[in-house]
Amino acid sequence: MSERPTATAPAAPAKPAPAVSPEMAPFWAAARRHELVVQRCTGCGALRFPAREICSRCLARGVAWQPVSGRGTVFTVAVMHQANHPAFAAEVPYAVAVVELDEGVRVTAQVTGIPAREVTIGMPVEVWWDAVSPEVTVPRFRPRTA
Ligand code: ZN
Repeated sequence: MSERPTATAPAAPAKPAPAVSPEMAPFWAAARRHELVVQRCTGCGALRFPAREICSRCLARGVAWQPVSGRGTVFTVAVMHQANHPAFAAEVPYAVAVVELDEGVRVTAQVTGIPAREVTIGMPVEVWWDAVSPEVTVPRFRPRTA
């Protein structure tokens, strides 16, 4: 005779944490402080994201991390209908956008706060911070109100 299953629901699977490379560690440290930062070339001043070893404009290797506004517009958007990991099953459909920040660099992130299908190219958005674990805070974007 088999035991009856318990009435408790199975634990939801944990979402995979972002992989933190040495080059991107300053970004994730700033994210924990709710500060959006991008790299600035110390040779020519060009901003870039994600982190790269060499400036694609002047080929310099010198770099600093610079805070940016966290404001921008949706450059392009995809609506995810398939949960590629079981932890995301309850969230589909959700919108993942490339956001062009006011400073000109582009960041890929989830857009929340409205139904995924209502996220449109050119929509003004602003960053917000989702502390997904004590170690990891992820930038997400939402429609800008002002
Ligand atoms: Zn440069």
